[in-house]
Amino acid sequence: QAGQADLPKTIWEKVKNHPCYSEEAHHHYARMHVAVAPACNVQCNYCNRKYDCANESRPGVVSEKLTPEQAAKEVLAVATSIPQLTVVGIAGPGDPLANPEKTFKTFELVARAAPDIKLCLSTNGLALPDHVDSIARAKIDHVTITINTVDPEIGAKIYPWIFFNHKRYTGIEAARILIDRQLQGLQMLTERGILCKVNSVMIPEINDLHLVEVNKTVKARGAFLHNIMPLISAPEHGTVFGLNGQRGPTAQELKALQDGCEGETKVMRHCRQCRADAVGLLGEDRSAEFTTERIMAMD
Ligand code: SF4
Ligand code: SF4
Repeated sequence: QAGQADLPKTIWEKVKNHPCYSEEAHHHYARMHVAVAPACNVQCNYCNRKYDCANESRPGVVSEKLTPEQAAKEVLAVATSIPQLTVVGIAGPGDPLANPEKTFKTFELVARAAPDIKLCLSTNGLALPDHVDSIARAKIDHVTITINTVDPEIGAKIYPWIFFNHKRYTGIEAARILIDRQLQGLQMLTERGILCKVNSVMIPEINDLHLVEVNKTVKARGAFLHNIMPLISAPEHGTVFGLNGQRGPTAQELKALQDGCEGETKVMRHCRQCRADAVGLLGEDRSAEFTTERIMAMD
């Protein structure tokens, strides 16, 4: 796990209060996700759009969608009730950067209402290079990019299509564009000193062995943490992988891969794959206490 001893001092200073990035902090500090971003520009075979973006969240969960104004209000209400709240993130339910107006408006309102709270964002990376300036301007501290492969042939098995520059691309061409944009975005962010974590979904027999290569590639482009998450693909969630009978990795397979990547980029092991509207300490979810109805009723 990432801890003070493992990270350079400058990075440690930035993450020590961040429950997702620091093993120590996740016991003491709370984070909150606001689900303001419904659309997505990519299709992943492990995702069913009826649910939250599975790149950052546990699949099969439906978050309550908020407007930026509702989200900012909810942040204030939560910050009052949970003083350990240090981080507000946008992770879905679709891709935050496929909904840039809503995402950046929300960050602006949250920063105005609660200037001490750190902001973070997670994305599939397709639109990332176009938004690096806005991310820097919004003072977003941390970005998570989901990169499942750096090989377009493997990518074609994970992503049936992407929507890019007003056009739908499929197959290897789609995967090549997506991978180029993800790596370009990662490099642009790290060059500006914005901390980047990379998430990868481990899919047995598709990208499992290849994730060691992903680990090396993202480290070379400045990612400071690599979070390898197991595929959760239950048939009842209606994902392509679930319906094809694609299995997720066993706990032993996941651990063996995480061990194999140690020494390259720090591997995160305490991720809980929390939902796009999660509230509270990692491992607890208090979102039911903060429904929009209740927040709006506080007027
Ligand atoms: Fe689903 Fe997220 Fe993939 Fe979009 S990026 S298809 S919301 S898992
Ligand atoms: Fe940020 Fe992801 Fe942690 Fe949410 S789970 S606070 S988006 S790093």
